[in-house]
Amino acid sequence: MTAAVQLTNEYPVPERMKAWVLGHPGEILPVEKPVPQPGPAEVLVRIDAVAICATDLEIMQHGLPAMVDGGLPFNKNFTIGHEYMGTVVKLGPAVDEYAVGDRVTVEVHAGCGRCARCRQGMYTSCLNYGDLAKGHRANGFTTDGGFAQYAVNNINTLVNVPDDMSDEEATLVVTAGTSMYGLDVLGGLIAGEGVAVIGPGPIGLLGVAVAKSLGADPVILTGTRERRLELGKKLGADYVVNVRLENAVAAVKRITAGKGVQFVVECSGAPDALDEAAQMVDRGGRICLAAFPHEKVLVDLAYLVRNNIYVYGIRGEGQSATHRAMALMKQRRFDARLIHTHTFPLDELPTALRYARERVDDAIKVVVRNQA
Ligand SMILES: [Zn+2]
Ligand SMILES: [Zn+2]
Repeated sequence: MTAAVQLTNEYPVPERMKAWVLGHPGEILPVEKPVPQPGPAEVLVRIDAVAICATDLEIMQHGLPAMVDGGLPFNKNFTIGHEYMGTVVKLGPAVDEYAVGDRVTVEVHAGCGRCARCRQGMYTSCLNYGDLAKGHRANGFTTDGGFAQYAVNNINTLVNVPDDMSDEEATLVVTAGTSMYGLDVLGGLIAGEGVAVIGPGPIGLLGVAVAKSLGADPVILTGTRERRLELGKKLGADYVVNVRLENAVAAVKRITAGKGVQFVVECSGAPDALDEAAQMVDRGGRICLAAFPHEKVLVDLAYLVRNNIYVYGIRGEGQSATHRAMALMKQRRFDARLIHTHTFPLDELPTALRYARERVDDAIKVVVRNQA
């Protein structure tokens, strides 16, 4: 005899959803779209919270670095937003790595998995970037992102969220993962080595936090805004330097008794930042560029060569850095929540974007929520 079991679905998925899409440059519009369906190795995520990133603002104005169908993303019914978390509500065929109801946060890039770079774990530099037919996805860059109620995600982009972590905090894993990846590409930090971080934006601030929690000593943060520098201290900076009051290179030399630091993570994008970073590191030191100027810049290359200084660029958060960042956040090695300043409902996305763009009320990370 078969018991009449009533299966209830806790997460009924509608046919259509609310989403925001890019119109003309600078324009974002509310629409209804079909809810996407997960394919093999994918799940459908109900988006619960999304953090706004400076790159979202860049894409809204200029299109790049988002690329849709080989061109700019405007007026293509395209949804941006890439720093999101949510709940798994549907599994693609043969997916058993996650279950319906799991809380997950999502990293941006699912590489194609078949090119040489993906095979090395460098999936943010996938050689088939933007080739959807080959399986590449980058949420909010080449495929629909998180300013919507649902999004499809490759299982390789998911990170489990601990029960006691808020939705807002979980959205910050991509930022922390980017900082972590920066230290990875530098060859890995050894406890006791000195790190200077230039620029107290979200990646710089969490760069301080990650470096400190990996044992860097000292951690020095340079910037112009006093309130950001104070936050840097709370996140683990041993020293902060207000470059309006003291030359950044002189300060690093003073703090390190003339030796300089072993690593610089450059997060400002200032035109002279690489030259400055070169003066901050010791001979043989390493510099990671995690931000970029909009114009070409003149650099003292001879100084770099003569001093055997290594310069690395990073894109995003490869090598599963988000998983390692989450491990540190879960263990409360630092409090990423300090950089979350504002929350708005998804319906008020344009206001939230304005807060982020104009830094209204000292906004750092502005989060929009889908769920009450
Ligand atoms: Zn971002
Ligand atoms: Zn690839």
